[in-house]
Formats: sequence, C-alpha cells, structure tokens
Amino acid sequence: MGIFGQFQDEQHRARFAARARETAFGGIDRSMCGARTRGGTLCRAVPILEGKGRCLRHAGPHAARAYRERQRQQFLSGKISAEEWNRAEARRAANRLTLRWQKDPWLPGRTIDLGDAEDALRAMLRARGVNVDVLPPAVADWLRWRYRRTQIDRQSESAWLRVLNDQLPERVRRAGPRPASGAESQSETGLPLSRPARTWTPDAHGAETFSKRHNPDQPRAPKVRRGKGYLRPGRPRTQAASDDELDSLMALYREHRAIVAPMWKACRSEGDRLALLRALRDYLAAPDDPAYRDRWFAAAGRGMSA
Ligand SMILES: [Zn+2]
Repeated sequence: MGIFGQFQDEQHRARFAARARETAFGGIDRSMCGARTRGGTLCRAVPILEGKGRCLRHAGPHAARAYRERQRQQFLSGKISAEEWNRAEARRAANRLTLRWQKDPWLPGRTIDLGDAEDALRAMLRARGVNVDVLPPAVADWLRWRYRRTQIDRQSESAWLRVLNDQLPERVRRAGPRPASGAESQSETGLPLSRPARTWTPDAHGAETFSKRHNPDQPRAPKVRRGKGYLRPGRPRTQAASDDELDSLMALYREHRAIVAPMWKACRSEGDRLALLRALRDYLAAPDDPAYRDRWFAAAGRGMSA
C-alpha cells in the first residue's frame, strides 16, 4: 500500500470522499446549504436534516415546520433544555412579528429587551424631545436594535446620529399616523377581524401568539390498506370466511386430511389455506366444471411444488 492507503492518489481519495458524502444522504450534499444569496454567493450555513439539504433559513416552510416539530420532540424527551426551546420559540415569534410589522407598524409588541440600557436610551431620546412610548412599535423596536448596534455592541457616533436625524423621522413618516383606538383589531376596511391580533413580547414568552404552530400537530389519517383481510397488497384477494363456512371447510379438511395436509403445510398464509379448501370444496361439488377443476389443480400444484 502506498502513502494514499488503498487509493491511487490524492485525487482518487478526494473523489471517493465526495461520492461517499453524496450517497450517504440520498444524493444530497449535506456539508453546506448552497442556496444563492442576494450577494450572489452561495449560502454556507449548515443544512438542517429536513428538506433537501438547505439551511433553516432557505429550507422553506414545510421543512422549517418539520424542524420545529423535531425540536419539540427533543425538548419533550429532555434532549434539549427548556431554555434552548424557549429561545428558539422566541426567535420564531419575533420573526413572525417582524413580518407582520411590514404590513402594520402599529401592531404592538417588541423583539428586543435592552435591559439596563433602556433607561439610557430613553434619557438620550428625551433630550431630543422623542418619547419612545408614542412611536409606532415597529419603529421603536428598530430604534432599540440600532441603539444596541451603534452604542452597545460597538461605538459609532456618526451612525447613531444618522439614525436619529435622518432614518428615525423617515420611518415615523412612513408608518403613518396612529390608527384610531382599538385599531389593532381592525382590518383596512374598518371591519373588526374575526380574530384580534395577538403579539409576542419578551415577557410573555410567546404564550399568547397568533401562530397556528402552537396548535398540536393533527394526527395523520391512517394509511389505506389494500386487499381484504389478509394484508397482501396487490395480490389476488381471498374473502374472509364466516364461522359456518369455516366449520364446513374444517370438516372437509378432516375428511381429506391425507391429500390436503402436505399442501396445507406448504401454504404461506391463512388466505392461501382458505383458498385451498374452497378450491377443493368447489371441485368436489362439481368435478366437471372446468373453472373449478383448474382452480383446484392450480391450488394443489402450488401445494405440491412448494
Ligand atoms: Zn442557506
């Protein structure tokens, strides 16, 4: 054996490894997501197990739902902590809220808790005559994220001033005036929605949300079974026997035990045994009927050849 083990050269080994990785997951490369991003590059995130090898962000709603369900089972069976599960649920609820804010920036709720820094932010805004509590919730939330980005995570006074002087007034203008009271539960036509909008806040931990994801999964309809009684899909069916028929067939069996017993043993299922005895019964009742005769010979032939 050479320095490459059982491989001819390094290229051979790399080719083998790539093919092995593909076939291990049904032809799907699970080493990276590979979705095209807006920047024109390929997404390098780790794919989730669900779906066709994309990451959680790119896998689509069905795979994401399956991913959540697997996570829920992991939580219920103790494989992941309650804290981790709550964090994931909060992330999902925050994503939903952000999506809804695109349509209605006045929808109450928030996705970030600044903690102690909230007071500092409020003081800074008060000095400029801005009251966070009267801002559209979507804008206030965006403002808190910008504050964290430009004042806490890293210091960028110029970026923060741009936020206050240009971006904040623009966002408030685009959000439009606060709708009339109770408007959270009003649609654009002014008619009340059948379900009032419920929102997520860091305090409530997503207990009150508008998502159907919080409903338990519905059980699937049972699989349709083909065949009648014997669970042999796609084979000729044998009708189940009534008690009376069974009695008469067993009497027939005892009467012709010498011939039938070896064939009986060769039968692979209850259905085959029933078919064997029925064929014999019908043949004895009408030995000249070619259909009955053929059926009996076929059943007997199966028994003898096995
Ligand atoms: Zn991706």
